Amino acid sequence: MGRHYDLAIVGGGIVGLGHAVAALRRGLTVAVVDRASSVEGASVRGFGHLCITGQEGEARAYAELGRELWLTLAVEAGFWLGEVGTVVVAQAPDELAVLEEFRDTRGGHDVRMLTPADVRERVPVADGVAVGGAFFPADLQVDPREAAPAIARWLDAHGVDFFWQTTVTGVETGRVHTSRGRVSADAVVVAVDHEVDRLFPGIAEAHGIQRCGLDMLLVEADFERPLTAPVLTARSLVGAAGFAHTPGVDALRERLATERPDLAAFDIDQVFAQRPDGSVILGAARRCGDDVPPFQSETAFELLLEGARSLFGLGRVRILERWQGVHASAADDFLVSSPAPSVRVVSVTSGIGMTSGLGLADRVVDELFATAPGVLTAAGAARSH
Ligand SMILES: Cc1cc2nc3c(=O)[nH]c(=O)nc-3n(C[C@H](O)[C@H](O)[C@H](O)COP(=O)(O)OP(=O)(O)OC[C@H]3O[C@@H](n4cnc5c(N)ncnc54)[C@H](O)[C@@H]3O)c2cc1C
Repeated sequence: MGRHYDLAIVGGGIVGLGHAVAALRRGLTVAVVDRASSVEGASVRGFGHLCITGQEGEARAYAELGRELWLTLAVEAGFWLGEVGTVVVAQAPDELAVLEEFRDTRGGHDVRMLTPADVRERVPVADGVAVGGAFFPADLQVDPREAAPAIARWLDAHGVDFFWQTTVTGVETGRVHTSRGRVSADAVVVAVDHEVDRLFPGIAEAHGIQRCGLDMLLVEADFERPLTAPVLTARSLVGAAGFAHTPGVDALRERLATERPDLAAFDIDQVFAQRPDGSVILGAARRCGDDVPPFQSETAFELLLEGARSLFGLGRVRILERWQGVHASAADDFLVSSPAPSVRVVSVTSGIGMTSGLGLADRVVDELFATAPGVLTAAGAARSH
């Protein structure tokens, strides 16, 4: 810890790693400090669905930049990335109508409407279940268990110093205080996702940051054929920012909630992502608040399984794993706060950090380090080495 760095990053999830990638590409020296012994937060607990098309505004800009960064990193760091798109299955006319409205705003290149037969060609939904659907060709998929850890290994091999099992207790300009001593750096980025409420409670309160806990399953099932892409249903659309302005989305949300209050009670959306080994990640039941209760409801898991069985006409579904992932949530999609000069607290507060985190991090590093010919200086900090 004796060395001085250009950038010290707290948090080794995808957002922290994204800052490390951006800094490394700009020739900066980087340290990453994480209290865990490996990447184990939200970044390995999700679907690995890079849902670029469903984003809007700032999130879409970060997602599009992130798309390029993911494509490059997959080659450099050597992990699986599928340019597979997303299949959205419409099971009722109002769901199809919202997809058509979305296509009308985005255009047929980004949003391709599917007939029931097209849907079945791409994913093995049960006969008669789909009234149609849509395909988002730009979307990507990674295996979340593999991707962020591979990026961390690649960064390590390229000279980024990792301090695992090291808890950060506070940061100030030029310094990170940890359970193993001090890390000194020109600039500091804190990328601890929902833990921002523990390290910077004032910032979390000012931005209305909550924790969202998602109950998830990994299953093995007798799918007729592999899923060629992550599969979304209307339940996942009604919460996506890109659909917020489609005229029919409010009525659809209302109909879904009225029709299935049991699913609404557990805030269940239905997303299915098949990993390269054939197992399928299935989720999620969501609870948000100041804290996430550690007790997972079996009823929510049963509802998730029932959704899978009816959509794909499955007989046997074997649960391989259950887990909970937590991410930050707030009214704004992103938190970028500056509690001290050359210190940035960065969190994706909309549950789309895998999609947007790399792009956001690249922009934060751009802003933090003002580039002059041949010199990189941390904005607001005197260079001390
Ligand atoms: C179940 C689930 C499914 C998801 N699916 C998707 C998806 O398909 N697509 C998508 O785009 N997004 C998805 N997301 C959202 C996405 O996973 C997150 O937005 C993203 O992973 C956040 O990355 P992060 O680096 O900020 O957080 P994390 O990956 O949680 O990393 C934060 C790190 O900070 C460390 N840390 C915390 N406090 C301290 C401290 N005091 N000292 C040192 N280290 C500390 C932690 O150990 C952790 O390693 C999902 C989220 C969940 C929970």
